Amino acid sequence: MTITNAQTEEREPSLLHRSLIERPQKVISGSGIYLTLADGSRILDGCCGAAVSVIGHGNKQVQDAIMQQYSSIEYVHTMAYTTSSAEELADALTELSKPFGLTKAYFVCSGSEAVDAAMKLARQYHVENGQPQRKRFVARRQAYHGNTIGAMSVSSNLPRRIPYDGVLTLDNVSFVSPTYAYRGQRDAETEEQYAARLVQELDDEFQQVGPETVIAFVAETVGGATAACITPPKGYFEGVRKVCDRYGILLILDEIMCGSGRTGSYFAFEREGDVRPDLVTLGKGLGGGYAPIAGVLISEKVVHVLKKGSASFVHGHTYQAHPACCAAGLAVQQIIKRDDLVAKCLSRGVLLESRLRSVFGDAKYVGEIRGRGLFLGIEFVQDRASKQPFKPAIKFASRMQEAAHSRGLAVYPGSGTVDGVNGDHVILAPPLTITEEE
Ligand code: PLP
Repeated sequence: MTITNAQTEEREPSLLHRSLIERPQKVISGSGIYLTLADGSRILDGCCGAAVSVIGHGNKQVQDAIMQQYSSIEYVHTMAYTTSSAEELADALTELSKPFGLTKAYFVCSGSEAVDAAMKLARQYHVENGQPQRKRFVARRQAYHGNTIGAMSVSSNLPRRIPYDGVLTLDNVSFVSPTYAYRGQRDAETEEQYAARLVQELDDEFQQVGPETVIAFVAETVGGATAACITPPKGYFEGVRKVCDRYGILLILDEIMCGSGRTGSYFAFEREGDVRPDLVTLGKGLGGGYAPIAGVLISEKVVHVLKKGSASFVHGHTYQAHPACCAAGLAVQQIIKRDDLVAKCLSRGVLLESRLRSVFGDAKYVGEIRGRGLFLGIEFVQDRASKQPFKPAIKFASRMQEAAHSRGLAVYPGSGTVDGVNGDHVILAPPLTITEEE
């Protein structure tokens, strides 16, 4: 449900909004964790749009960095030129990712473009490694990887997919179970047994489609938009890595929502044992909302094959590594580091989770509170004992969003359809700068 602005003029907007009937509230300014609306009301941004604004709103240092970039050079094409801001942002990120074998960074303007680029890098890796027969991806149900035809093909957000059936490359993608313990873990099963069963399912899927035909397994490390912060069971990603390695299949981890410190470690996969992904996508928290920027971190294994092969990445966008976006991203990353926001996220996440549990843990329609760091989801059910979800027509999550908004809090609503079960949820993902009092 769109929250409409009572003060909005009557005339039909020229802008195509998400809803053609209702228009969203107009925001006129933001500062720290707060947004100010056109009607003067103040909203605590409890979700940063969709887990975007990691350092909060109105940061002067980032604004200055962007202006400084504009005052020197606003744009160059990466085919012929580079800029210090792009190079330095790549250095800042690979300083964090090199211990995990990820040695190069590639920048685009949105998460969907980053996922497409990762998919194409993975395919190119196999082609140049003498395995052009690899043409398939395996992904997970209840996953969201973006809106472009490529990223949507590996996503399982059914309402967004269904209109494009036959248009998306469905034939080349298959799906396995998500790490959704609330509904997926059996009563008699330990966490480790649950993880092992999911890993076995992945192995079976590879066997079923022919492991020599698979390019990569694509997964969000902590599932976000359609899953509301589902964390992997212990040992899951280590098992996934082993199975991928057994067949020469690449592992693409999508950390567009859960990366950049959001879960209390810079990369969410750092908490999954000794897991070295081949490609990692970052987005939202990379630019923190100050500029549209996303990226792919690429392992030395992939870089090495490309270097020996065509020595180029056969892909490119006009606005990739845009100087002002990179300047914004660099300033945001410097603030995350300077202010120790990843460690703060971890401790404030523990506090927020425990407060959520003590206030809502026994509430009538709360099925589960889950997540990690400042990336927390609440799943709602009509009946706690049977986990029976609400009927979609009730639009429970949207109604929760509206109720929270009317009390001055922004939350991110969603519903995920897994195996016919539609679970309503909201995500809480405030800026990592939020204080204990706030
Ligand atoms: N991947 C994940 C995990 C996401 O959560 C999103 C957006 O919500 C995307 C990819 C797509 O990013 P964008 O909306 O910037 O294209």
